[in-house]
Formats: sequence, C-alpha cells, structure tokens
Amino acid sequence: MSTPAPNASDFLRAFTGDAGQLLPQKDAPILAQTTSPNRELYLDNYLAKMADYENAYQEDVYLERHRYPVLISTFKRLDRVQNLVGHGNFNVVSFDEMLKYGKRYSSVGEFTQVEKDFLEELFFANARQYGFLGDKVITEISAPIPERDRRKVGRTGHFLYRGKSETLYDKLQKDVGSNIVLTSGIRSVVKQSHLFLAKTIQSKGNLSKASRSLAPPGHSYHGIGDFDVGKVGFGRKNFTEAFATTDEYKRLVDLGYVDIRYPRDNMFGVRYEPWHIKVV
Ligand SMILES: [Zn+2]
Repeated sequence: MSTPAPNASDFLRAFTGDAGQLLPQKDAPILAQTTSPNRELYLDNYLAKMADYENAYQEDVYLERHRYPVLISTFKRLDRVQNLVGHGNFNVVSFDEMLKYGKRYSSVGEFTQVEKDFLEELFFANARQYGFLGDKVITEISAPIPERDRRKVGRTGHFLYRGKSETLYDKLQKDVGSNIVLTSGIRSVVKQSHLFLAKTIQSKGNLSKASRSLAPPGHSYHGIGDFDVGKVGFGRKNFTEAFATTDEYKRLVDLGYVDIRYPRDNMFGVRYEPWHIKVV
C-alpha cells in the first residue's frame, strides 16, 4: 500500500541486524543497546524526529497517490457509521458490525470491495515500514468487544474493559480526585482505523507522520486495555504536552503506581504522550 521514499536507508538500516535482516518486532524498543555502527546517528535522528513529530522527513513513507480516493471514501463512510451509532458507541463497533451498518442503512451505504480491501490492507500491513515500532496487539480484524467485557463510563462517552482497566481507573480517580477524567478508553479496530485515516488525510498521505502520533490499526493498546486521562475542562490540551504541566498529571505520577505507555524518548516510534496510561 505504500512505497518507501528513496534514501530511507539510514533509518531502516538501524533496524537491521548484522546480516541485514529485520529485527524481531519485540526487540525494536531496545535498539538503544544495539552495536550497529549507525546507532548514534540513528538515535540522534530518531529522538529529534519524535520531538518534532509533526514535521515530514525524507524517509517518511506515503500512501500512493492513486489510493487517495479510496482513503477519502473509506474515511467518509466510517464517519457516517459514527454519525449513525453515535460517538460513544462507535468506540466499540466491530468490523462485522460496521459492514452490517453499511448494508442496512442507506445513510451509510454498503462498503465497497475496494474500501473493505483497503481497511484490511491497512490492518494487516507491517507498520514498521512506516517507522512505527510498537507491537501488533490485535491479530483478528473482526475481534468483537462483547458487552459483558466492557463498562460505559458515565458522562465521558467512553468505555473501559472490566477488570484491570476499570479497577485502575477507579483507583486513580479516587486518589487524584474527580478533576481527572477518562478521555479515551476502549477503541475497536474500526474506531482506530477511523482515527488513523483522519490522521493520514491530515498528513497528506504521510503514513509515517500519522503513525508518530497515532498507532496504526491493530497496534493500539486502547484495543486491549490502555486508556487516556485528562483534566476536566482542559479540552484538546489534554492531548498535548501541556497536560504534563497540570497538577492533576503531577499527582498522577506521584501516586507511584501509574505507568505512562509512551514516555518522552520512548523507542516505539511514538511521540511523548503523558496522558496515555499503560494497563496491559
Ligand atoms: Zn492513548
């Protein structure tokens, strides 16, 4: 679906072992310890890039131009599913349910074969080719999120998995106070695809840039338990580094039991996300 830009080699070389083979995905985050001769160059470039994630870089990978129409039409159809079921419920819509809504509701319209193929291709693509180094955490595109496994969190429009996620959320809310609130919980493959396509459109087809601030479909820990929190009334700033300057964030960190999934200088190919709580 995408073609690497020429001269992507410095970036990619750093991901290869001595024999030039790609390192197993799970080893990527410990590249800081690699003995590759490109190590320092790579690390400097990498850290600068993550700090300035909104920029485009020479080695960035783009969606081919001729696929833009399907990018747009798929995004718009997903948008119509979201309008149909509501923003809250859209978080937990499965792939099969999405297709069903398309078939049943003329306000959505049936997903075309090309759109279905596009979503599948995106889901099954190796995200490392964009520079995203996190794990694939969902392997089944049509994995459902059963009602019994989730809880709708009042007044947030978001869901949490029962068990570890809801227990951690309840505890940290009790300890920090009700000024901290869930800003994004469970995200199905469909929801993550919608977000990723929106980012890709915003990035003018730059899949690498999109994946620096949003995990590609199948790679988001929101699919299996992580969640985002923010300060009540802080709006969109909750998804910026400004969140780390709030008292709520400081109290969160001082609790000592909360882990941030993407700390500054993380090796997952993702920008700093002080709001994203690691659960799994
Ligand atoms: Zn998050």
